[in-house]
Amino acid sequence: MADPTLLILPGDGIGPEVMEQVVRIIDWFGEKRDLKFDVKIDLVGGAAYDAHGTPLTDETMDRAMKADAVLLGAVGGPAYDDLDFSVKPERGLLRLRKEMDLFSNLRPAQCFDALADFSSLKKDIVAGLDIMIVRELTSGVYFGEPRGIQDDNEGGRIGVNTQRYTTNEIRRVARSAFELARRRNNKVCSMEKANVMESGILWREEVTWVHENEYPDVELSHMYADNGAMQLVRAPKQFDVIVTDNLFGDILSDCAAMLTGSLGMLPSASLGAPGENGRPNAMYEPVHGSAPDITGQGKANPIACVLSFAMALRYSFDQGDEATRLEKAVEKVLENGARTPDLMGLDGGTPITTVQMGDAILGALNASL
Ligand code: NAD
Repeated sequence: MADPTLLILPGDGIGPEVMEQVVRIIDWFGEKRDLKFDVKIDLVGGAAYDAHGTPLTDETMDRAMKADAVLLGAVGGPAYDDLDFSVKPERGLLRLRKEMDLFSNLRPAQCFDALADFSSLKKDIVAGLDIMIVRELTSGVYFGEPRGIQDDNEGGRIGVNTQRYTTNEIRRVARSAFELARRRNNKVCSMEKANVMESGILWREEVTWVHENEYPDVELSHMYADNGAMQLVRAPKQFDVIVTDNLFGDILSDCAAMLTGSLGMLPSASLGAPGENGRPNAMYEPVHGSAPDITGQGKANPIACVLSFAMALRYSFDQGDEATRLEKAVEKVLENGARTPDLMGLDGGTPITTVQMGDAILGALNASL
């Protein structure tokens, strides 16, 4: 059988620096675990604009549609701030998400014990935390029509956005959350505002429908999103998978992410519907941006990108054991005290570089054999 295909788009700023470490890890899996990928590397964002005058060429889009998974670094930077909106680096990312129809955004909030002191919450509340937020990504109030700003004919103006969800949009993201829960601790909590929003009532009814008809084995609970925000900072370990809409998910996933400390640690996945081969369209990327303030200085933490590849192993390539191997290697390295500058505590110590963090993870992978 042909090797699975992986399209790598390092992008801008620290994107290529962190991706370089991931490529070393991908090569390690090929050599040591006989897990080979057909890897293609291409341009996105400012790098694509510099070469082709567009943040994503049609050829690259085509490659992304055909790949089994896309792994992206980061896009953007001050050099592109004054470009026309239509060719800004972020447009490349949005085009990928839209044309691949990536409606389910997975944001894990996982707290490595070695970094529990980094959280703004007390250590015992976050140590060992491992939850997953599933955010609907392609509909809701960010896309609903009508939208705009208009005169109210009385000397003032009206800003309008529309929260809108269809049965199909809710059911497909709910399925994605239930599927994930089955691979984890089998619990889903759905969050909306059914107390004050009709779209919230529909959300609750449709998630319940999918549960009763397709996933009765998974435990389902419902929570109003405002209470969800409180519970996330009060007792986050009560959750396994949280599924919510685009707007609430935007806020709740950032809140959950910060439970765990540094931006340099946070991976994400965006998934579409499963294709004929059972694999969903999928793009994996760190949550952080291109970090122009540290680009080219060897200071970038590659772990968010490394953990994004671990998610690809688990969710696109059905290699859960190898994903765990990689996550454990990262955990080991942190336990041993390896720290890029963003992970330095107040008690001092010497930070290591991006490449040295890659070396350390490869060392831990070797030790896992
Ligand atoms: P950012 O995430 O790039 O950086 C925020 C802060 O976190 C900076 O101080 C940076 O040095 C630090 N940081 C981020 N990633 C790090 C890592 N891996 N290791 C160590 N430190 C890290 O956000 P920003 O500064 O608001 O945006 C910079 C550029 O990135 C902008 O052009 C923005 O549009 C773009 N951006 C892109 C994405 C994406 O590609 N998905 C996401 C967010 C921002």
